[in-house]
Amino acid sequence: MNQTNRPYQRCTNCVMDTTDRAITFDEKGVCDFCRDFYAHILPGWQAKKNDPDLLRRTGEAIRSAAKPGGYDCIIGMSGGVDSSYLCYVAKELMGLRPLVYSVDTGWNLPLADENIRRVVDALGLDLYTETVDWEEMKDLQIAFLRSQVPYQDLPQDHAIFAGLYNQAVSRGIRYVLTGANSATECIRPPVEWVYQNDLRLIRDIHRRFGTRPLKTFPTCSLLKFRLYYPLFKGMRRVAPLDMLDYDKEEAKRFLQERFGWQPYDNKHYENVFTRFYEGYYLPHKFGYDKRKCYFSNEILAGTMTRDQALAALEEPGYDEGQIQADLEYIAGKLGLAPAEFQALMEGENRTFRDYRNSWGLIRMGTVVLRALGIEKKKFR
Ligand SMILES: [Zn+2]
Repeated sequence: MNQTNRPYQRCTNCVMDTTDRAITFDEKGVCDFCRDFYAHILPGWQAKKNDPDLLRRTGEAIRSAAKPGGYDCIIGMSGGVDSSYLCYVAKELMGLRPLVYSVDTGWNLPLADENIRRVVDALGLDLYTETVDWEEMKDLQIAFLRSQVPYQDLPQDHAIFAGLYNQAVSRGIRYVLTGANSATECIRPPVEWVYQNDLRLIRDIHRRFGTRPLKTFPTCSLLKFRLYYPLFKGMRRVAPLDMLDYDKEEAKRFLQERFGWQPYDNKHYENVFTRFYEGYYLPHKFGYDKRKCYFSNEILAGTMTRDQALAALEEPGYDEGQIQADLEYIAGKLGLAPAEFQALMEGENRTFRDYRNSWGLIRMGTVVLRALGIEKKKFR
């Protein structure tokens, strides 16, 4: 478990606490995430929501930038509520012709694939599914487990992130629509819990613990993503859900009624590995419970009260029977003996600082982006 010398303290406004070691509190006991949200994120978010014409204007700008007959944008689709709703918004509210892009990392639950199919078919959209080479995926995931870092979702996240942006650029699609939204993601989890899509770290961990070359695994450095693609390829990211009064629960109901879409137990639980990683690995090995970030977001967005969040945190995030079943399934799929998998779970904890990384560069970049007003979220 995570060792900390500080006395335990929980924010009086949200439910973040000192399991995030870098958290700070003001004299009223309000944490730095909350202060940052009210000072920097809320004003811009409200301004966007209060502009009823922004979504239409954005749709028009995207359409007019597209080549005739081609896709005007690309949407990364997981089958989760945000990306599913985004497909509907793009097609029907913005009048766009998106290419829907999904990645098969080998861990998707059948329910997620079913949801993707239902939404895409009903809206008459084209779907492109990229299948990551399983032997490479597996090798990188085992390397990550051996590295003992918290960020076990990084191999999957990187494949999805890199695959999407590489696909957009290779097809000459300028606009990438993202389901990211302030209503559910106004807090960026602490960097100790959820590190960056840092290709340098991924490569170093794979160099040390991997056994086969990554020949086809999708990769994209942050420099390429932040500078080369926008400046030289004209790539733009747009977050339409922030231009609406986006209510996740309402969106779920809508998706169920309209498409027969089916809900998941928890955010990101459309994927077996993510369920294990967030529900068991992070809390059990590091003492990090990402639900604190999700619920705090909801409190700040006004869709949950602090009392509801505290009560929800008392509930186990993961069903006992499900944990055992998932552990066995994951070990088996990765080709690890149960004892070996258990040993990896109990090894000495490490962080990105134990490996080559681009954290210095990322932080410097973020300071610049925040100074320019491009990046709003607090980052530490
Ligand atoms: Zn707070």
